[in-house]
Amino acid sequence: MAAHTHMRILIVEDEPDLLASLAQALREEGYAVDTADNGDDGLFNAEGTDYDAIILDVMLPGIDGWEILKRLRKTKKTPVLMLTARDQTRDRVKGLDNGADDYVVKPFDLEEVFARLRAVIRRSANKTTNVIEIGDVKIDTAARNVFFKDKAVEITAREYALVEFLALHRGEVVTRTQLYEHLFDENESSLSNLLDVHVSNVRKKLGAEFIATRRGHGYCIE
Ligand code: CA
Repeated sequence: MAAHTHMRILIVEDEPDLLASLAQALREEGYAVDTADNGDDGLFNAEGTDYDAIILDVMLPGIDGWEILKRLRKTKKTPVLMLTARDQTRDRVKGLDNGADDYVVKPFDLEEVFARLRAVIRRSANKTTNVIEIGDVKIDTAARNVFFKDKAVEITAREYALVEFLALHRGEVVTRTQLYEHLFDENESSLSNLLDVHVSNVRKKLGAEFIATRRGHGYCIE
């Protein structure tokens, strides 16, 4: 229990029973929990407090979860675990592009929420203070920011993960399999073809030559 006492979580969910049971379960796990039952209060809290993570429902009265995420990402990198009612690739892709850290599809198992919550918090906390510089690209692995020619680049969480992973393996060919395993969990095999989309987006943002394709092998940053 004591393990999480310093962790503060915001839950934004409009279904009263679900909100109450999630909040209670997380408090029993030792988290400090704030709640909001509509989009506007959720955004207000999310922007005004440094939470360790936010559990964010998609369908909300007022502004919806996607809009909250989009606005929040302009100022904060708080880990966000989305609750989505529909297991549709379209929705999940939208979330990835908007900077969500992970998803749980309703109806969910509480243990799954706990596990994913711990994972997003751990990933966010395991930051190093290294800044990696590769040509015109600078990667701040503490802030999870990327700069191109000294200008901050708008980059999604997945794109960032791709760039960071390749940068940490600079000079090596990273196989597509390695990237899949790093970027997507085992339940996301349907999203594997998105790897090409992420690579293409990163090239648009950081220069076409930033990531080299090693045909038949994978990708490489020289
Ligand atoms: Ca809802």
